[in-house]
Amino acid sequence: MDDAIYRRGLMLVLSSPSGAGKTSISRELLRREPGLAMSVSATTRPKRPGETDGLDYFFVDQTEFGLRINRGEFLEHAKVFGNYYGTPRGPVEASLGEGRDVLFDIDWQGTQQIREKLAADLVTVFILPPSTAELERRLNARAQDPAHVVAQRMAQASNEMSHWPEYDYIVVNRDLDRSVAEVQSVLAAERIKRERQIGLGDFVKRLRDGR
Ligand code: 5GP
Repeated sequence: MDDAIYRRGLMLVLSSPSGAGKTSISRELLRREPGLAMSVSATTRPKRPGETDGLDYFFVDQTEFGLRINRGEFLEHAKVFGNYYGTPRGPVEASLGEGRDVLFDIDWQGTQQIREKLAADLVTVFILPPSTAELERRLNARAQDPAHVVAQRMAQASNEMSHWPEYDYIVVNRDLDRSVAEVQSVLAAERIKRERQIGLGDFVKRLRDGR
C-alpha cells in the first residue's frame, strides 16, 4: 500500500534578472503542472497595464505593507528597485502542509531569507538570459515600463546575476519550451527525493516482511 507514503510540499523558487523570461516560464510551468500553486506576493509598486490585483500581485500601499510586516504576515520581504515586495506566509504554509508544491517568483534577497528558515523544503532555480543583447531586447520589447525604469533594470541585471552561485539549478533561457521542460525535470526529481518521502521506512519494512 503506497498510500502510506506521503510528502511535504516543496518550495520551488525561480529567480532571474528582469527580462530573462521568468514570467513566461512560470506561466507555462503552472499550465503544465496542476500540482503546483503560485505564491502571489504583495507589493507597493504601481500596477502595470494588464495586471490583476490578487492574481499577479496584491497591490498595497506602504502603510499597509508596514502593518503586514509588523504582524509577521510575510515569510520574507525585500525592497527591489525602490518598491517593497513580500510573500504572504499563510497560503504557503497551508499548501506545504497539504503536500502541495508552491512556485515563487522572488529575488535573491527573498530566496536567502527563506533558505534561513525552511532550507529543507526549498529548491532554487536561477534563470539566465542567453546574452546581454537579448536581455536588452526583451526589456525594451516589454515596453510597459518607462525608459528610465528599463535603463535602471539593465543596470541592476548585472548585480542580480552575481547571485547565481547561491542557486541549486541554472537554466539558460534560449528557448521557452526547453527551459520549461528543464524546470519540470528539476521538479520531477526533487519530488522523489528520499528525504521528502515520509513513511518510506514503514513501507519498505512491510515489503520486506512480505505484507
Ligand atoms: P516586477 O516588479 O517586475 O514584477 O518584479 C521585480 C522583482 O521583484 C522580480 O525580480 C521579482 O522576482 C521580485 N519579487 C516579486 N515578488 C517578490 C516577493 O514577494 N519577494 C521578493 N523578495 N521579491 C519579489
